[in-house]
Amino acid sequence: AYRITGVILDITARIQAETALRDSEKRLRELSEAQKRFIADAAHELRTPLTAIQGNIDIFMRYPNIPDDEKLDILGDVQRESNRLGRLVNDMLQLARGDSGATLREEEVQLDQVIVDVWRDLSRVVPFHHMLLGEVEPLQIMGDQDRLKQLLLILLENALKYTPEGGTVSVSLSRQEKCAEMRVMDTGYGISEEDLPRVFERFFRADRSRTRGEDPGGTGLGLPIAKWIVESHKGKIWLESELGKGTTAVVQLPVYEG
Ligand code: ADP
Repeated sequence: AYRITGVILDITARIQAETALRDSEKRLRELSEAQKRFIADAAHELRTPLTAIQGNIDIFMRYPNIPDDEKLDILGDVQRESNRLGRLVNDMLQLARGDSGATLREEEVQLDQVIVDVWRDLSRVVPFHHMLLGEVEPLQIMGDQDRLKQLLLILLENALKYTPEGGTVSVSLSRQEKCAEMRVMDTGYGISEEDLPRVFERFFRADRSRTRGEDPGGTGLGLPIAKWIVESHKGKIWLESELGKGTTAVVQLPVYEG
């Protein structure tokens, strides 16, 4: 009986090892598919501003006598598109670092202070929206202060970009059991039920017609970066939204009690 048990244990161990191998092969395949898709999407996204820049330079070279005001228009276009190119490259670099397992700082961070700081800086330079600071409970977490500031900036910038002038953007922080819960709320265009599950996909951007045809110049990488930052802090992030009413971004991070 002893020997039979041994044989069965051997077989079980072998089956487990084979299953683990198959699982990791599958994961590798999925990862490599995701990488290929990222590169294809990235190339496509980079090509659009590049084509615009090249086209404008061609016009400049071919027609040396264009009036000065038209020249300025063309240069303005080149400037906008090259800024966009710069933003894309920066965002892509940051995600690539995240993918290759870049580690974040681990220090005690007073999350309420981060919120007040970012909110104060931003509300000084935002002329067209009401910016409210809701209730902000003093809460500490472990993490990387600069990345947490960036996270909040991404969410606030989105709230501002996708809210028409005169709308309201507010931030709050409260404790929910073992988590610090940060909410960034806006009274903007909202996101359709159909688009909502896709907003954390790399390069995903909802239909422009919903933002009155204006392109606020996003890269479609803000929320993926936000998600990477939150998950590196062992937290959760999601959006709640209703079309035409507004959006709330919710972030939960484990509280540090010292
Ligand atoms: P982007 O650079 O385009 O803002 P993000 O990854 O930050 O990219 O967001 C992806 C998409 O999700 C946006 O293009 C927009 O369609 C939608 N979105 C994000 N935040 C909001 C918000 N607060 N209100 C409405 N739509 C939003």
